[in-house]
Amino acid sequence: MDKVKRYTLDSSVSELVGVGKTTAERLSKIGIQQVRDLVYHFPRAYENRGAITLLSDCVENTPSPFLLTVACEVKNARTKSGITVSKFRAFDESGVCEIVFFNSPYVKDVFHTGALFRFYGKAQMGRGGHITLQNPKYEAVIPDKELDDLIPIYPLTEGISSKVLSKLIRSVINEVAAGILDPLPEKIRFKNSLPTLAYALRNIHFPESREALFRSQRRLAFDEMLYFALGVSLAASTKSKNEGVSFSPVSISPLLELLPYELTGAQKNAVNDVYRDTVLKKENGKTPAMARIIVGDVGSGKTVCAIISMYIAIRSGYQTALMAPTEILATQHYEEIKPLFDKLGIKAVLLTGSTKASQKKKIYDSAEKGEIDAVIGTHALLSEKLCFSNLGLIITDEQHRFGVNQRAILKDRTKAAHMLVMSATPIPRTLALALYGDLDVSRINEMPKGRMRVDTFVVDESYRARLNGFIEKQVALGGQCYIVCPSIDKASDEEALGLTSTSLASINMVDNGKLNLKNTVQYTEELKNALPHLKIECMHGRMKAKEKDEIMQAFARGEIQVLISTTVIEVGVNVPNATLMVVENAERFGLSQLHQLRGRVGRGNKKSYCVLVSGSVNEKSRERLEVMKTTYDGYAIADKDLMLRGPGDFFSSNTDNNLRQSGGFKFKLASSCDDTTLFEAAFSSAKDIIKDDPTLSLSEHFLIKQSLAHLTDNSSTIS
Ligand code: ADP
Ligand code: MG
Repeated sequence: MDKVKRYTLDSSVSELVGVGKTTAERLSKIGIQQVRDLVYHFPRAYENRGAITLLSDCVENTPSPFLLTVACEVKNARTKSGITVSKFRAFDESGVCEIVFFNSPYVKDVFHTGALFRFYGKAQMGRGGHITLQNPKYEAVIPDKELDDLIPIYPLTEGISSKVLSKLIRSVINEVAAGILDPLPEKIRFKNSLPTLAYALRNIHFPESREALFRSQRRLAFDEMLYFALGVSLAASTKSKNEGVSFSPVSISPLLELLPYELTGAQKNAVNDVYRDTVLKKENGKTPAMARIIVGDVGSGKTVCAIISMYIAIRSGYQTALMAPTEILATQHYEEIKPLFDKLGIKAVLLTGSTKASQKKKIYDSAEKGEIDAVIGTHALLSEKLCFSNLGLIITDEQHRFGVNQRAILKDRTKAAHMLVMSATPIPRTLALALYGDLDVSRINEMPKGRMRVDTFVVDESYRARLNGFIEKQVALGGQCYIVCPSIDKASDEEALGLTSTSLASINMVDNGKLNLKNTVQYTEELKNALPHLKIECMHGRMKAKEKDEIMQAFARGEIQVLISTTVIEVGVNVPNATLMVVENAERFGLSQLHQLRGRVGRGNKKSYCVLVSGSVNEKSRERLEVMKTTYDGYAIADKDLMLRGPGDFFSSNTDNNLRQSGGFKFKLASSCDDTTLFEAAFSSAKDIIKDDPTLSLSEHFLIKQSLAHLTDNSSTIS
């Protein structure tokens, strides 16, 4: 008797029929180990094969479904170069076409005269209206068996095709779904008209209809936002339980006297907040560990607040660590801090991935002996080998890149240390509480005096020639230029499309080939041809971190005049000589993201510009971009963004990496959610749950707690 396999979410994928060692390894590479991971590996798009196109209506190079009858037997032939070409004709009521397969001689046994198939592919038109389909996808039309209209397309993976994934998921989904107990209390499901989890998981992979797909996406996006809110609330409920070290009432004047400027009022307030938390505050005679975030627009001067905080810690006899998300940022901080600290007799070192092993060892030694006051670096600081003799303050810059978990790693090792986070991402007020629930917030809402406004323009393709002239002029004036494109190269375009879709309802219907995104690789070629005398380089997220850092450093040194890149340049790099930011396909970006990008220029004393090139003729998206011309306040822009695009952008990590992380959570659907009401509902449901049961210990919340643990366990790895 055959053994009957029973699968649950916890089964290992290697138990599945058809998953051998190689497949298991490939799946593991994309983070799929358990059936749970497989079931939560959502399609990035769907081919709409339901809208059958007549041959007479077909549009060249547009992927479309056709319902065709095979008109003759397949003829196989070999070309001189050894390729097998299989050809036959097929027809529908409107006409005839030729179907060609390459190196697939077996199709001779698949297609026989008179059989009906659904084909999906791009039609090519020859002379005299002659239509050809090359290597189309096909499904036999069999009586009494309905074909699915929406075919899932999974994120591209080396070695595993979308078809294989779909087959694997199909083989388990019904059984697994039937065994799923919905963690969401019925009350919440009803209140928000959400389908069951089983239904949603089945229909996100194999939608019965567009409506079913939409309902499923909505439910799963709701889950992501709910669990995220619960995670943060739980963290908040345990905040500041740790006892911290107590700093001394030191004078910061010696440091202030070295600065070439006066602090703004907002900077003073932020510094005062830190001083109050670490020096003055006492609960039962003890200082609770500070957990504070300084939030301020790009260029508002958060770094100096961090430096002053470090100074207070160091003069109180403690060591400090400052962690930045990239090597270049860490280096920039170091270069800003080092001369100041040198003058004050404070010892600061730089520790990054590319620090030489011998130097690293020296740093580990002297940090442990207490000979170093400040270690500035990247996540190399998370190395277990780095021990401090008395760490008093940990600062992380641009917290979005690290997330709650990485903060926790540092914090865990040094329970008594105070924690300060700096973030340049303006968050709408409604979101701030949820995102930073575990932190006290200091807001820098004032810019240093004398900042010049970055003039912003919205243009379309017809300005291309003039734009190139403008780039030339900026370089001639001694400035440098950033150009940001939404896509890396042609091959990744399709991928980018699925990833940048901004609406759940329209999510990822394969956008019949209309995409025409600017990509870094091709653009670089074009611009090098157009402006051959300029030094132009290309940078994108598929490059190694080291390679990116090198290009960025060369740009910072002025050796590159025009840097064409994806949004990888976005985090707080400081190149004061950059005077022009061009964003291509600007309609693809959120306003907050555009604001962040714009903040890369106008950092020096030269007049700077931002040009948003819109590839879209859509009135609404054009209007959205116009906001950038008149609004320069990051918070106002963030609020507007939330209103216009929904909360999705705030859940995306704004990189061209398709694992969207925030606070250690992966958002697969929430990041394309444009439904503010859904988001508010998820957050208020989380609030309701926590209100009655702050630690999720009631039995009715057992499943929720379990799911939450699954979500956070899997994402604690440091990338
Ligand atoms: P961000 O908040 O984006 O991290 P930075 O800390 O990098 O901003 O500051 C941006 C620039 O503003 C730096 O060159 C810094 O020296 C300068 N700056 C900071 N505070 C002031 C101030 N109060 N007055 C004038 N310039 C300032
Ligand atoms: Mg900064």
